[in-house]
Amino acid sequence: MIPELAGYITRSEGKKFLKLRPEIDERVITASGLNANISLYIHIPFCRSLCPFCCFNRYLFNEDKARTYFVSLKKEIDLYIQRGFTFSEFYFGGGTPTILMDELVSLIDYLKRNFVVKRISLETTPREITEETVELLQKAGINRLSIGIQSFNDDTLKTMGRVFISGEEAKQRLFMAQGKFDTLNADFVFNFPNQSIRQFETDVKMFKDLGIDQATFYPLMASPHKKDALERRFNKVDFSREQRFYDIILKELDQVGYDASTAWCFSRGNKMIDEYVIDSDDYIGVGSGSVSIVNGNFFVNSFSLDRYAALVNSSRLPVVGWRKLSRSEHLRYYLLTKLFGLEVDEARFRERFHTGIKKALPLEILFFKLSGIIRGQEKLKVTKQGMYSVSVMMREFFASLNGLREKYIENQI
Ligand code: SF4
Repeated sequence: MIPELAGYITRSEGKKFLKLRPEIDERVITASGLNANISLYIHIPFCRSLCPFCCFNRYLFNEDKARTYFVSLKKEIDLYIQRGFTFSEFYFGGGTPTILMDELVSLIDYLKRNFVVKRISLETTPREITEETVELLQKAGINRLSIGIQSFNDDTLKTMGRVFISGEEAKQRLFMAQGKFDTLNADFVFNFPNQSIRQFETDVKMFKDLGIDQATFYPLMASPHKKDALERRFNKVDFSREQRFYDIILKELDQVGYDASTAWCFSRGNKMIDEYVIDSDDYIGVGSGSVSIVNGNFFVNSFSLDRYAALVNSSRLPVVGWRKLSRSEHLRYYLLTKLFGLEVDEARFRERFHTGIKKALPLEILFFKLSGIIRGQEKLKVTKQGMYSVSVMMREFFASLNGLREKYIENQI
């Protein structure tokens, strides 16, 4: 009941948040007033095949298009440099960032020439992992490598359309990368139609046995059309099962020294996570279909590769949707992201918004406290019992974002 209520509230909030104006007043995208360094997310939207459940902006790999795209990316980053932005933490996501290793290495060199690079996180799929790729990524200075395993179960992988790799091969690829980076993460999906609780439990146990640094478990959060398509092909997406999956993660990983870094990410030791939405109050996303948040402005880049390239080639930011968040929207978004990171620091909130969190969001804090989701005073910590509610809230927020992605992809905005 509490998780559903928290999720419902987030869904309604997310729908408002994502009503965007097509034009942005570019003067609002300024580095002034920001902390010296904010995070940069870089989107590489090409894959060798397209998984049917995936809601990200991604296109079937075409070498010419991908090479042109890497040129556009550098131009877009230049536009931010001209506006005074500086970045030290970098997150590559996709799509498949390793799809053209020479272009990726050249882009990382370019970042190192222009910024003081502190940390780089990069995601890829197991099919991309070879000894050679791992070595190149190490040499390029990747600190955190995240591999989208999704499941070790061959039936589940088949249902997901990931026929290019078996669970056993995925395990071997993880082994290949183990110990080569500061943090190695494996991504998994739970509550996929036809995935049984038992299959998922086996996935979590196998992950534990491998002794990998970190795992991130994503609940299925398909956009409306993707969800309909999955339900036509398989079973209904049944959210009533979701908490049982989540409880398995808590039960299995708690016993063996994995700590929750977010509601979805569990690490051994102090590991880097890829949730720039938690690490940074503000971040810029570059690349087709990326989203950014800067000083209470939420904006999205064009999802069309042609439009994206045309805009950056004319020295314009490729932004096609913008919302100046109201103060309450901004405060709630901030609260949601920090809850997802399992701790809201009152002092940091005060420094950012010049008011106390209990004064700024009294009803929200009262609800989270009364429902047992958080406790504490100066640092509001998410309780173990509250973690599933936070997971539902974040799933609902991302599902709204996926709805927006779907609309922009379909209409090639
Ligand atoms: S899940 Fe990963 S590999 Fe599959 S289409 Fe999406 S981004 Fe590409």
